[in-house]
Amino acid sequence: MEFFSVPCAHCGKSIWQDDERCEACGEAVSAEQRAELQARAHPAGYHRHSKLVKSGRSALAYVILACGVGGILMFFLARSAAAPMLQEMQGMNPHTQLQHAVAGVEFVGDLRDVLERQPWEALIINLAVAAVMLRLWKRMNQTPGSALLSAFWIYLGASVLSLCLFPPNDVKDLIFLALKGYILVTLARGARAGLSLQRKPNPVALKS
Ligand SMILES: [Zn+2]
Repeated sequence: MEFFSVPCAHCGKSIWQDDERCEACGEAVSAEQRAELQARAHPAGYHRHSKLVKSGRSALAYVILACGVGGILMFFLARSAAAPMLQEMQGMNPHTQLQHAVAGVEFVGDLRDVLERQPWEALIINLAVAAVMLRLWKRMNQTPGSALLSAFWIYLGASVLSLCLFPPNDVKDLIFLALKGYILVTLARGARAGLSLQRKPNPVALKS
């Protein structure tokens, strides 16, 4: 097996692939130097993996924007869409049966509750996801694989939850669902690639 080294930024001596610190001066090996060592040891795999990690990172950025900014926009849109219906129902007896079931409810009072509650539920889910994803974003430089893996599971959970709370009822919702699926696949592939970049080479294997 071939050995690869990079010069220490502090003393200029060689740092080897499985080193945590410079053997000569004790300077910590930076993430950049570790990436460089890996790139030289496995060029093809490294570049393919780092491309997947970059795509995963973009997917994560999208989730933060879509849930943060998009979540707030959707909250106001949903509220203004519900406003005329709520106005119409004002003063109506809550026990009046609707002419036909809307959003799975049959009575005026229940529909009023749903219309008032749903925008808030969506806002809370979106902002919670955005906050968690922002924390994961900060971990991307250190441990991209585990950050993307957590992002995948959280986004999967949030997507399933919102699918149960707000079942898709038109083409727009289905397109949005497909987009979510694409984001999930991108996060999962980025996580797998990131984890294999994160994994340090086995020192025993290197020395054999
Ligand atoms: Zn050194």
